Amino acid sequence: MNLKNKKNTKKTLKNKKNNSNTTGIGVLFAVALILALLIPHLKDAQKYVDTEIALNTLELNFQEGKYSEILIDWNKAVATLISATGATQEERNIVILPAGDSLKDLGLKNPEIQTNIVVKDNSSKQFWSGMLPTIILFILFLWVGFLLISKMSGMTNNAMTFWKSRAKLYDKDKDKVLFKDVAGAEEEKEELAEVVQFLKNPKKFKDIGAKIPRGTLLVGPPGTGKTMLARAVAGESNVPFLSISGSEFVEMFVGVGASRVRDLFTNAKKMAPAIIFIDEIDAIGKKRWPGTGWWHDEREQTLNQILTEMDGFDNDTNIIVMGATNRADVLDKALLRPGRFDRKITVNLPNLSDREQILQIHAKNKKIQKLDYKALASKTVWFSGADLGNLINEAAIISARHNETTISEVRVTEAFERIVMGMRKKSQVMNDEEKKITAYHEVGHALVGKLLPNTDPVHKVSIVSRWGALGVTWFLPERDKLLVSKAKYLDELSTLFGGRAAEEVFFGKENITTWASNDIERATEIARSMVTRYGMFEDIGTENFEGEMDHYSGQAQRPYVSDDTIKQIDKKVKDILKAAYNIAIQLIKDNKDLHIKISEDLLAKEEISEEEFSAYFA
Ligand code: ADP
Ligand code: MG
Ligand code: ZN
Repeated sequence: MNLKNKKNTKKTLKNKKNNSNTTGIGVLFAVALILALLIPHLKDAQKYVDTEIALNTLELNFQEGKYSEILIDWNKAVATLISATGATQEERNIVILPAGDSLKDLGLKNPEIQTNIVVKDNSSKQFWSGMLPTIILFILFLWVGFLLISKMSGMTNNAMTFWKSRAKLYDKDKDKVLFKDVAGAEEEKEELAEVVQFLKNPKKFKDIGAKIPRGTLLVGPPGTGKTMLARAVAGESNVPFLSISGSEFVEMFVGVGASRVRDLFTNAKKMAPAIIFIDEIDAIGKKRWPGTGWWHDEREQTLNQILTEMDGFDNDTNIIVMGATNRADVLDKALLRPGRFDRKITVNLPNLSDREQILQIHAKNKKIQKLDYKALASKTVWFSGADLGNLINEAAIISARHNETTISEVRVTEAFERIVMGMRKKSQVMNDEEKKITAYHEVGHALVGKLLPNTDPVHKVSIVSRWGALGVTWFLPERDKLLVSKAKYLDELSTLFGGRAAEEVFFGKENITTWASNDIERATEIARSMVTRYGMFEDIGTENFEGEMDHYSGQAQRPYVSDDTIKQIDKKVKDILKAAYNIAIQLIKDNKDLHIKISEDLLAKEEISEEEFSAYFA
């Protein structure tokens, strides 16, 4: 994988260089042309003094024999006055007729007058030489504009590839990714193994009359290895892998996306069997909104082209289209119909053992001293594969910055905290009053959480500002939990109110602050969900009161709920919150001395670790 990256950057660098060379030559050429066109005019300006006169003045002057030469050129006459001897500049009179009129048969004939009269009949040539600078400028503008556009769209090769798809083609051998490179994800791999079979031996499926699947959609949160898995399918089946991102289809010109799709599929057909991978397919495959605008049209055209191409596959087209998105819910139903992306594979966040394996894969080529991968894996709940890779890399960067030759566990912890809590911002100053309130507030969360049975352990309490937050109390789940019990939710509500309750107990009802707003928001959300979605209260009933989300309006569509029920729900939510708050107040009042002690320690130390916190309760 590193290999592939290196190769790609090299390639683009080279292209860039070529490109800027041609640009340089082009610019030189243009400047030379403009100069060449201008210089004769500059010379003229030095040599002659020109005055524009009326036609009859010219005739009069001619009759008086003032001119040595008259050059008649379609609608322009240039008459050179007989100059005084020794003059460095010649004086000329110029007559210009409105375009369309011609001076060609001007009746300037007088045998007594020695004027050299030249009638040039090169009107058409004149036209071109007159237009030439304009035409050149026009072409120049077009060319510069095109260069700019292609630069913006990241195109590096030549102008004509603009309309072509810019799909990346991975080298079958060098950039190979195999299933074994993707840690965990066993179920996903199992499902994808079928696709590999199709690509490897399509005949087996055709002989028995099976229809070859067209499209496979990988759905999951960002960084869970969707791209990796798609590439691994290509690697395992040893077929070319054409990859493009949905956003790359949608350019600023209508029609470009569709033409790129055509090109992409044409290329793939030439290489078949092959995999076309469309990353971020939601960028083009969004539900069709009743909106308007060029962007909308462009997206729709691109999407239609993809659908058309996929419909055009026959059973001998050995191309599998794979798409990845983290939002399958926004995809147009047309994309998900049979014969299109009819297979959906959910790629989940890694579980505990997956995380351990992913960490190990990423640690492989890094100089890590000794690391308890299991412990780190259990700390990194909700981390995606990409986050885990990032964590190891961040640790390596921190170590290098400290001029260390290996990565120690301390650095890994540092990287972990940095990623989760944001960078330490010691510079942000709080006044003492704010600091004190923050400390008591945070200890409120920690204390209530610790005293209630169904909560996660406290990992750290801190009043070091990070990411603009004045302080945090950080609870860490011991293991992945997908289900939350009613008891846990209730304890969590009290824990959330621990902060505000502490403010009230120690600083008085009038001095509570805005610091609790996030806590209140979260608590309200939980309490409401408990009542309206999880059916956790018998008196309200096990019924969904929220309804489906409507994707057009972005609002929940309420099912038919009577006013009475709505009132009941509102009252229930209020009661739950009130009860939870009272529990928090009671616990803090009962443990006032301990609360003060921990808060004062926190003020002095700014951070209290898991062990230090547990020690207070030993
Ligand atoms: P997605 O396409 O789902 O956003 P990617 O496939 O681009 O995720 O993964 C991003 C990076 O995260 C990969 O390059 C890899 O380093 C790491 N990664 C993600 N999942 C895994 C995994 N299961 N095993 C190993 N590395 C992983
Ligand atoms: Mg990806
Ligand atoms: Zn709080």
